[in-house]
Amino acid sequence: MDYDSTHVGTVHSDFEEPSDPDAMRDAESTIVVDTEYEEALYRIEDNDHLKIVFYIHQADEPTLRGPRRYGVERGTFACRSPNRPSPIGTTTVELIERDGQELRVQGLDAIDGTPVLDIKPYAPNLDRPEETDEDRRDAPRERIERGVRNREREELLLRAGEIHGHFCPYLALGVMSGVHAMRELGATNEGMEDYLAVLETNSCFADGVQVVTGCTFGNNALIYRDYGKTAVTLVSRDEPDDGVRVHVKEREEIVERDYPEASELFDRVIAEGEGTAADRERLSEVWAEVAFNLIDRPIHDLCDVETAVSVDLPDRAPIFEDATCGVCGESVMAPKTVECDGETRCRDCADASYLQLDGRGLARIDPRK
Ligand SMILES: [Zn+2]
Ligand SMILES: [Zn+2]
Repeated sequence: MDYDSTHVGTVHSDFEEPSDPDAMRDAESTIVVDTEYEEALYRIEDNDHLKIVFYIHQADEPTLRGPRRYGVERGTFACRSPNRPSPIGTTTVELIERDGQELRVQGLDAIDGTPVLDIKPYAPNLDRPEETDEDRRDAPRERIERGVRNREREELLLRAGEIHGHFCPYLALGVMSGVHAMRELGATNEGMEDYLAVLETNSCFADGVQVVTGCTFGNNALIYRDYGKTAVTLVSRDEPDDGVRVHVKEREEIVERDYPEASELFDRVIAEGEGTAADRERLSEVWAEVAFNLIDRPIHDLCDVETAVSVDLPDRAPIFEDATCGVCGESVMAPKTVECDGETRCRDCADASYLQLDGRGLARIDPRK
């Protein structure tokens, strides 16, 4: 059965043929609504976001299933392939400006000349399904994985703020690096050691990476290498020679050059430990502004990305036997104990040296010195 639909406008875009959807979504385009439908735009500017329904006029032959650009193979109704039985696209865009019958938008992955079939306001309470507690029990990382798939970097930065406690440039860079590496690998991480992140810093960057990739100390998926570089390598356990390393270039210069007020405040308040309470408050405001500004910048402006990086993988989480300390009576992983005066002791009770990860990186602490 055939149905009628009506042409209500046309997309004007710099993209004349299908291109990298991420690049298309970063660009602005204009929808020119046909004169006879201009009246239907009345008060459309009350909306920040719109859903655009369009006809994918340059689609290839429809397929029902195929490998996806991101993640595993999916059926056509389970993905956003343009080659569909009904070649219709729907995309949520940001409305930047309305000028008469022209809508300037960002986020539309439709090429120049695409016929528009309909325009609707995006309504978060209707269009975004409530996430139930049960959903979250079944798949605790689902919201984050969706954020990575859809490159919702700002949403992911907000999530990272929940554990980091503040917003800052390095947290943003960690989120961006995590998103880029996950997408480059086509990774979906269910949090069970399938992927490993090798972090070369324990700065704020590390928290952004952990939230986005799900590779944490606690699930034995995070390796810390004490290099003091703002970099992370993400790798799948199945393909240890196919890692992706993201390294923040000109770590300090990015902030100094592009956000001088933030840099000057940081030096005064944090580096020199001076500055008034008002300075401190202003710093956290400016720091957050910089973070939310950085988060939308193209990764290659800020970072070098290497692919096919080999990583020496440790075993999956080893399970150690417990021993009991002869002094404090607490249980302790057996390989961490020391023999002292004929009994087994924990390192604390034996006054033995140990490794500590703190602001300096890894340091060996010897309590007897
Ligand atoms: Zn921070
Ligand atoms: Zn003890």
